[in-house]
Amino acid sequence: MDCIRLLPDSVANQIAAGEVIQRPASCLKELVENSLDAGATRIEILLRDAGRTLLQVIDNGKGMSDTDARMAFERHATSKIQSAKDLFTLRTMGFRGEALPSIAAVAQVELVSRPEDEEVGTKIEIDGSQVISQESCDCAKGTSISVKNLFFNVPARRKFLKSDATELRNILNEFYHIALVYPQVQFTLAHNDEILHSLSVGTIKQRIEAIFGSSARNPYTSQLVEVSSETELVSIHGFIGKPEHSTKNAQQYFFVNGRYMRHPYFHKAVMTAYSGMLVGEESPSYFLYFDVAPDSIDVNVHPTKTEIKFADEQLIFQILLSVVRESLGKFNITPSIDFNREGEIEMPLASSSSPQVPPVVVDRNYNPFRPNNTKVPTHWDTLYTPSSAIRNTSSVAQDIPDAYLPSLLPEGWRPYQYQQKYILCPSPLGLMVVHQHRAHINILYNQYKSLLAHPSRSSQQLLFPETLDVTQDEKIILQSVLDSLRDLGFDMDELNPTAYSISGVPSLLGQTNPVKALQDIIFSIRESGATVEQGFIHPIALSLAQDTAIPIGQVLTEEQMRDLVERLLGLTSYRLTPDGKTVLTIIDIDL
Ligand code: ADP
Ligand code: MG
Repeated sequence: MDCIRLLPDSVANQIAAGEVIQRPASCLKELVENSLDAGATRIEILLRDAGRTLLQVIDNGKGMSDTDARMAFERHATSKIQSAKDLFTLRTMGFRGEALPSIAAVAQVELVSRPEDEEVGTKIEIDGSQVISQESCDCAKGTSISVKNLFFNVPARRKFLKSDATELRNILNEFYHIALVYPQVQFTLAHNDEILHSLSVGTIKQRIEAIFGSSARNPYTSQLVEVSSETELVSIHGFIGKPEHSTKNAQQYFFVNGRYMRHPYFHKAVMTAYSGMLVGEESPSYFLYFDVAPDSIDVNVHPTKTEIKFADEQLIFQILLSVVRESLGKFNITPSIDFNREGEIEMPLASSSSPQVPPVVVDRNYNPFRPNNTKVPTHWDTLYTPSSAIRNTSSVAQDIPDAYLPSLLPEGWRPYQYQQKYILCPSPLGLMVVHQHRAHINILYNQYKSLLAHPSRSSQQLLFPETLDVTQDEKIILQSVLDSLRDLGFDMDELNPTAYSISGVPSLLGQTNPVKALQDIIFSIRESGATVEQGFIHPIALSLAQDTAIPIGQVLTEEQMRDLVERLLGLTSYRLTPDGKTVLTIIDIDL
């Protein structure tokens, strides 16, 4: 008996849909890209319930005839490619002919379309790959596609969707990726009848401002510097943020040949150009557009992939680094030589590339108080270069069981502050170096966490209420954590659709600017990818701790230092900050 059968198209389409259409955002991307491929100059997006119930894209593009409209839903039906060699020269966005059949397999779709040169249009209704009806109709030139009840017939997929706030955020991200490349196209985006974006035709810079410029007091584009470079290999254009406007909420975008891409290696080039100009954890915004010969990149025909491989990655890295440097220099924003950095001890950071691993085996017989118990012998020459000395010996600190450290400080010890950044303390194991800012982050993080767990709602009233301006997507995040913020002691109310007034703040906040603190919270929630279900305690507590901790550069009294170190060592976890950075290290001095 034969067992092999061809899958019915409807099943094949549903399987393909799993790859192409993971969530409302991917559906939106496909539809808008089709509109752009059809030459639309005006695109309207209407959403209901973050695209779950309705996701509609209306364009004024070239439209489809009645047969084309029917064909468009057939698998591998595309008007954009005729032979395999077209694949390498293509400049349109889609070409696999998979999007529409995939969408139609997992939703109820209504398509209305009319080409300019035809009098009447056509309307098709499809339910889970089944054509329900097709008839002619009166309609405007162009195409309107409504996708209703996405995943209505795939409960597993539907369950996999996140909260409306998260799905809407994903949609907006896709939208920005496209809108930032097509400033010559007019876009509107509305969600549940509220217009979130209305973007008119303009320059790239105006488009950036229209999307991210949240308030007149703080015009976004005055913070940007132009970048422009033409070489045979690549042309790079766009805008970068001035170092002093770096924030934790930086908008960072790369595009290649009109498509958004992620590129961690090129990101490093940009960050390298800024080195020495940034403080703390803040980073600059950038909007950089690359143009290269299409055959010098591997777009990896998978439509949802945003990672792209370049033929000459290292060379482009160098070019990018130098154009960004040049732009920063041209606008006179490179710093003069920073003498403070000379001889500075670099704390080894627990970066993602070298994670700090807690000891797996604890040597129970290890006695930190017994002299000569040095695991790593140090020598003059290694000690002479500070960073290598620390690198060699930090393993000593790694080996100390946590319980030992609090008892490490000798009676009557005296701290010493080094470079207004480190607290040096004696310890029987060697010289203990504590990063003052990170130590305080750990202490505050624990305090904010317990405040969130046991709300007291006590706040310190502000003499003059402050105003927090929010963009649409910031507002969505803010609304989902408003209760937690109130629990912490933020006294805030909606002032108008794009602003909140803040009349009270948690007492722990001290002199910290509440507007910045709230902006950072919004940012860290966005970054953490946390969902309502998981709760936002961690990102809120961490962000507030980072904002309110004693900064680097602050002179501390002996009393303050002692207090800080003792409170730090009193915590159950003090070696690493909640985001994995080294808080203290011990230099084993055995000369
Ligand atoms: P692809 O974009 O990969 O060709 P799709 O499934 O996304 O495949 O679309 C199939 C075809 O339907 C396209 O090649 C195009 O001819 C037609 N089409 C889709 N959307 C539109 C639109 N908004 N306007 C005009 N034609 C469209
Ligand atoms: Mg397409």
